[in-house]
Amino acid sequence: MSAGLAPDGGLYVPTALPRVGDLRGRHGVADVAVGLLAPFFAGDVLEPELEAICHEALDIEVPLVEIDATTRLMELFHGPSAAFKDFGARFLASCMSRLQRGEDRPLTILVATSGDTGGAVAAAFHGKPGVEVIVLYPRGRVSERQAHQLSCWGGNVRTLSVEGDFDACQALVKAAFLDPACNARRRLSSANSINIGRLLPQMAYHAASALQLPGWSFVIPTGNLGNAVAAIWARRCGLPIADVVLATNANDTLVRFEQTGRLEPHDTIATLANAMDVSRPSNLERLMDLDGPMWDGVRALSVDDATIREVIAGSIARYGRPVCPHTACALKVREQIGMPCIVAATAHPSKFDTVVEPLIGQAVPVPPALAALLERPRHETTIPASLEALRDLL
Ligand SMILES: *Cc1c(COP(=O)(O)O)cnc(C)c1O
Repeated sequence: MSAGLAPDGGLYVPTALPRVGDLRGRHGVADVAVGLLAPFFAGDVLEPELEAICHEALDIEVPLVEIDATTRLMELFHGPSAAFKDFGARFLASCMSRLQRGEDRPLTILVATSGDTGGAVAAAFHGKPGVEVIVLYPRGRVSERQAHQLSCWGGNVRTLSVEGDFDACQALVKAAFLDPACNARRRLSSANSINIGRLLPQMAYHAASALQLPGWSFVIPTGNLGNAVAAIWARRCGLPIADVVLATNANDTLVRFEQTGRLEPHDTIATLANAMDVSRPSNLERLMDLDGPMWDGVRALSVDDATIREVIAGSIARYGRPVCPHTACALKVREQIGMPCIVAATAHPSKFDTVVEPLIGQAVPVPPALAALLERPRHETTIPASLEALRDLL
């Protein structure tokens, strides 16, 4: 997993999904993860440490909040960065820091972020021995709160504010991987959403929730398809999950793909649910790789910005709580599904205060972990979007 991509340039997939034995009797995401992931780690150097890794990384509460008799909100935002990406990032950090023991060349994780990923990865790796993180984000193109979460670390986390857009950040990371000078002194790795070490642990909260509500469907706010593929893998392992419904924003490549069978990405549109502004979902290859018809028990529906605004504006009256724009997409899609549904809430609404607060006409309280981060001073270096500038820092 320290190699983000497989040698053929494709994505790592499990060679065969294990049938998971009886997980009943396990409670909580960390404990379910130990049983669920054991077959994936069989024979791996990390196998003896899987239990410690799961408890170190995944001891995060995932409440299933009752919205009505047949709808539960699966809150995935109780980790340190208040978004579901904490699960994958923390698991990856726990694995990589162990794999790094005894290595003399330091491991450097390069991560380009348009917002949430960088915050989760920085939080997860901060203070882990033998590993350094360099976060690249597009200067002026993330919210104030996101910028703060990306740059409040110091120590083994360095934050680069790049004069360019997200694509420029991603291009820089790719160029660094291919550049001999950048690779001479250190080992480089990525932590983006295609890393299988981030995907596997995400199966655990779907599994833990399915064990509590067997036979329910899942509605998942979807961008790069990491969260949804984890749910589909969990179902393939034998967990009692009915349909997996993908809720996209106006970037509806998957919806049109389901309807027409043709994959025709349009240009990416900026939406209010910006962590899902993806027109070529990077994990689609993994979905297409599964045996059997791809859309068996999987559906996709899209929600536009006007509807996201409506859902957020009515969220306190309707659901008793404010919701983030990504969760709003899933709640809207849920209305079109006539089965009991677990709806994934992927981020705390306070992370999207500038969108949510004007629509609900009140402030959203910030959870304590996030508030603590926003108190810390910022450290960052601004660089032009050039490989030379990045090379000088490596
Ligand atoms: C990343 C993200 C998503 C999309 O998840 P994918 O795994 O990329 O489909 C949805 N909501 C939030 C808040 C996110 O940060």
